[in-house]
Amino acid sequence: MRKQIIVGNWKMFKTNEQGVQFIKNVEAKLKANPNMIVGVAAPTVMLSDLTKVAKNIKIAAQNCYFEKEGAFTGETSIPMLQAINVNYVVIGHSERRDIFGECDQMINSKVKALVAANFTPILCCGESLEIYEAKKTMAHVAEQLTQDLAGVTAEQMSQVVIAYEPIWAIGTGKVATPEIAQEICQGIRQHIAKLYNQAVANEVLIQYGGSVKPENIKDILSQPDIDGALVGGASLIEDSYLGLVQ
Ligand code: PEP
Repeated sequence: MRKQIIVGNWKMFKTNEQGVQFIKNVEAKLKANPNMIVGVAAPTVMLSDLTKVAKNIKIAAQNCYFEKEGAFTGETSIPMLQAINVNYVVIGHSERRDIFGECDQMINSKVKALVAANFTPILCCGESLEIYEAKKTMAHVAEQLTQDLAGVTAEQMSQVVIAYEPIWAIGTGKVATPEIAQEICQGIRQHIAKLYNQAVANEVLIQYGGSVKPENIKDILSQPDIDGALVGGASLIEDSYLGLVQ
């Protein structure tokens, strides 16, 4: 049976002090569940302190660069993250793609570097409103995944988490209905079977992301091909985060 994985994406919110206090407070109330991975993807500046106070909460980075070191001003390498005990990294979030111009080739380089270092990329994919309205979601998402996973072996796929996030549902309050989210997540699983094999597809964890809240998470997680959620806004408040993961 697949585990569930719920990760909060704090984006560019909170100071280091606020982040540390949040993790301490939530850890004190969190009941560990062996069938669920819970995490927080935090701004880079906090990662070192958060990994020191986190026990059951996995601390994820929101981005990384694929080169080990060098003249890459402003970037963070995988060895740097490894040295502070981070081993989950969100890759290809739509904000990275749209605001910072990350293309599938770059995302692919990051995914390959992460799995080679035994990290877990949380690989985001998803369509714009225009693509959704044109009913081209599945073709778009399949193409993103084909490119982003090129060169990742079937064995390495056991480390990869996929997050399906329709861009029109991120931070907008518009949630894809559980049925729509299920249809695309099922399509993603079928596409992984085509790229690899059925066994890999059966194992891969697929999250849904887009305005998930404590009030709607149950319906989303009850879908057979949805194994968790990537949550922005609702992960910023302690009670709401606990409402998502408990
Ligand atoms: C996200 O940032 O990945 C996200 C899904 O945000 P929100 O939950 O706020 O829509």
